[in-house]
Amino acid sequence: MKKSKKQTKVLFVSSEVYPYAKSGGLADVSFGLPKAMLGAFDVSIIMPLYGSIDIKRFKIRHVEVFDIFLGAKKYKVELLSTTYESLKCYFVGSKIITDKKSLYGTPQSGYKDNDLRFGLFCKAVVAFAQSKNYDLLHLNDWQSALCALFIKEDATLKIQTLFTIHNLAYQGIFEKESLEKLGLKNEYFHMDALEFYGGISFMKAGIAYSDAVTTVSPNYAKEILTQEFGCGLEGFLSKHENKLTGILNGVDLFHFAPKTDTALLQNYDATSYDKKVENKKAYLQERNFENEQLPLFIFIGRFTWQKGVDLLIEALQELSQMKLNIAILGEGESKYHKQIKVQTAKAKNMDICFGYDEVLSHKMYASADFLLMPSLFEPCGLNQLISMSYGVIPLVSSVGGLKDSVHSLNDYDKSMACGNNLGYGFSFDKNEPNALIKTIQEALILYEDKKRFKEINMHNMSCDFSWDASAKVYTSLYKSLLEQIV
Ligand code: ADP
Repeated sequence: MKKSKKQTKVLFVSSEVYPYAKSGGLADVSFGLPKAMLGAFDVSIIMPLYGSIDIKRFKIRHVEVFDIFLGAKKYKVELLSTTYESLKCYFVGSKIITDKKSLYGTPQSGYKDNDLRFGLFCKAVVAFAQSKNYDLLHLNDWQSALCALFIKEDATLKIQTLFTIHNLAYQGIFEKESLEKLGLKNEYFHMDALEFYGGISFMKAGIAYSDAVTTVSPNYAKEILTQEFGCGLEGFLSKHENKLTGILNGVDLFHFAPKTDTALLQNYDATSYDKKVENKKAYLQERNFENEQLPLFIFIGRFTWQKGVDLLIEALQELSQMKLNIAILGEGESKYHKQIKVQTAKAKNMDICFGYDEVLSHKMYASADFLLMPSLFEPCGLNQLISMSYGVIPLVSSVGGLKDSVHSLNDYDKSMACGNNLGYGFSFDKNEPNALIKTIQEALILYEDKKRFKEINMHNMSCDFSWDASAKVYTSLYKSLLEQIV
């Protein structure tokens, strides 16, 4: 009998994965992308076992226990696993990881021992990958970056590494003393290695020691080489530019498709766009909005500087006087919670929900007419892709992946757009005064032109923002890396 060729084994390493633990888009990507790669490779995911993960609900089972050394200190590690929608996920449990409920700490500051928590996670991942003969590790952000260094340290390991930067603003920066705690040689305290302004940066390990580096949109790949967006790493990244590419994220249509979304009162798609209004009516009534005829603008996201929350707050006073409704869902820095509360307290056309609520977010996408995304920088952004799939026109600042994925309505022409796969919306220059208000005014004019408004939404909804296109590019990248194994 002919022996079948062993399928290449890929381990997708991430600090957050939907549906187990999520703080933002990384969790969506860490489920959607590996799922899209399943046909081509034998892919599994591995993540830390935080105290907040519901072991019973996800039927997470014990696999094995082993010891890991960081420096002279021994840590007991428990490996667990489960399968969700055909995708196997492993969990790394150890007291310092599992005794905390939050993933990284509070919005104000990370846990003090995050160097050890994620250092231990990476060391355990490499030990596991070695014992199970993985061929390639796909690492994501600073929390998994040290895997690349641990692999390079052991010349006997034949494992390729791909490091994806989802957000350069979070780098995992720690004191120099962390090197010793992690059992890493002092020679890494060098500007070409981990040293970063007197401390050490985990992100630099991913960039320096991985075989290839990607980021989540072609435009962000260019931006991070500049001082404005490079977060102090632009020079370092330029040195490694030959292995850096940008691949736009996709959306997991199994979870984000208005046709099948179980959170919605009324399902719909491009061909039944008119049914969408049923969701809007129900949502506006549920949230006690006074005037159901007005267009609904939504903002969903982390309350942090990056997302342009200051621009939004600045505009709220004026927006409370305009003929529109606004719904905001998010959580984050407490100063923003307070400011938003104050600004919206008396407004009759605004609804604010503080917290993380997956179901509510789906209802909001299904009810809204416009999405506000005034980000100061945005590596890719998922909200604009989700919104276009749900028939919501995005208003975005022209940065990062937003520039790659939201095309100007000035260029929209029905006959030209017919059959193309470009999503259309409004984009503005974040540095221009009053840009957000001006763009909202343009959106209100568009809303009055019901025929064009519907036509654009139907076009956006018929575009394919799934993972398929990105998965093809990642597949060739994986293959070219695997060819380098000697
Ligand atoms: P981030 O920078 O936070 O990763 P992305 O645009 O890449 O931003 O992804 C955000 C994802 O998180 C989207 O799926 C969005 O709908 C979801 N999201 C953000 N905040 C909330 C919230 N408070 N409740 C529910 N979903 C949220």
